[in-house]
Parts: sequence; structure tokens; C-alpha cells
Amino acid sequence: IVRYRNVSKSFGDVHVLKEMDLDIAPGEKIAVIGPSGSGKTTLARLLMTLEAPTSGTIEVNGELLWHQIHAGKTMPADEKHLRKIRKNIGFVFQHFNLFPHMNILRNVSAGPIHVLGLSKDEAIARSQEMLRKVGLIDKIDAYPSQLSGGQKQRVAIARAVVMNPKIMLFDEVTSALDPELVGEVLTVIRELAAQKEMAMLLITHEMDFAREIADRIIFIDQGRIIEQGTPQQIFENPQSERLQAFLNRFL
Ligand code: ATP
Repeated sequence: IVRYRNVSKSFGDVHVLKEMDLDIAPGEKIAVIGPSGSGKTTLARLLMTLEAPTSGTIEVNGELLWHQIHAGKTMPADEKHLRKIRKNIGFVFQHFNLFPHMNILRNVSAGPIHVLGLSKDEAIARSQEMLRKVGLIDKIDAYPSQLSGGQKQRVAIARAVVMNPKIMLFDEVTSALDPELVGEVLTVIRELAAQKEMAMLLITHEMDFAREIADRIIFIDQGRIIEQGTPQQIFENPQSERLQAFLNRFL
């Protein structure tokens, strides 16, 4: 469903990603681990078209995300095309950015109505079902400011997943939360991971969780994939010194 080929990204002189190749199969659950500043978030931002690669190509569902232009410049695919591709991709970040002036139900149903073009009744039914799944059906009339961080993050997840994306990106979704709220958010992600058809790219520092839900773990350091494999290979038999040193910090 996703294919990065020879993707590099620099900010000025800082080479954040270097000649990255990455394929994500439909329904595949991938956890991305690595030190701070290694390029994990940038990897996700490129897929969300928030940044353009400096060179290389990214395809989603066989369609190019950016057109390669001469002299290393990249141009977005045209806006209509881009919107169509983006519908395949859902994301949740560290900082929930719910619409503060809308209640929870409207936060979740706005996308299905305005982007997917569902009828209001259908969008609301779907949103209610999604909010039930994340355990917030009793909060549909509340406003974001009335919710805890964990609850807000669960709404953010519901809002993304209600769009039926083919791939969900989670970027350190629990790292801004108080420790006692982390579990409820991970529970929701765990349940979503049980859905066979949706791929996931999960950037995380929660090693136990990565190990539990991922089909494949990718270890990134200094803008490169240093090692990848099954959770068992990565955690029990790390090959590179860098991965060994990184994992030792979590022991
Ligand atoms: P963390 O785990 O701390 O979130 P990360 O692995 O996600 O780190 P990135 O956020 O991808 O790392 O950042 C990688 C490097 O790119 C960092 O050195 C960062 O300062 C730099 N960087 C990211 N975005 C920009 C930007 N817009 N302009 C300049 N430098 C940037």
C-alpha cells in the first residue's frame, strides 16, 4: 500500500532521512523505533504530505505522492489527486488537535460529512459506533476542554479511523500523556490492530507495546533503517551495535 524509494529529506544542511526504502503491505502493522532526532516523525510527515522529500519517490496505492521535477525540486501531485490519495491515510499525533468549538460527536462526524460526503445520519451513526469502540459514547455531547488527555487522544483516534483509512499513522500518541492515561489509549490501538485490513505505522517509545502488536519492527538511526525484522528478531537477537545500545536503554 505504501512504497518509499530512495527517499531523502534534508532541512538545509541537516540530512534527516537518507536514501530510505520502505514498503508497507496492506494490513501490515509496523512499529518504528529509534533515538530522538533519528527521523521517525519526518518519515511520517512525508507520507502525510506535510513535507516534500528532497529526492526519491513515495507511492500510496500505486499513486505517486509527489511529482519529481528537475534539479531536485519536488512538486505535489495536483490538489485533487492529492486529496484522493490522502483519504487513504489517517494520522494521530502526540498533541491531539481536536476542534475546540465542536462537541465530540461533531469532531468525529465532520470528516465523514465534508470529506467522504456521507449523509448526516449516516455520518452520525458511523461516528457513534466509532466512539462506542473507543469507550466514549457517553461523552458525545462534551467539548474537548471537558475531557482528559487520554480521552482526547481516543477521540483523535476515532476521528481518524472513522474515515476508514487504509493506513493509520500513530506518532508517539502516548508520550504527552500522564502515565495513568497511557493504558487506555494503548488498549484502543490494540483493538484497532486486530482489524486485519488496516495497515499501521506506529512510532513509539513503548517497546513492550511495539513488540506486542507489530508484525515488523523498524529501527531507525541517523536517518537510515539500520535493522528491521519481527519483534522476536529485533528484541531477542539484535544484530547491530547501535540497536543493542538503543535497546539497553530500555532495560
Ligand atoms: P523524536 O523521537 O524526538 O520525535 P524523531 O526521530 O521523530 O525524533 P524527527 O522529528 O524526524 O526525529 O527529526 C529529525 C531531525 O530533523 C531533528 O534533528 C530535527 O531537528 C530536524 N527537523 C525536523 N523538522 C525540521 C524542520 N522543519 N526544519 C529543520 N529541521 C527539522
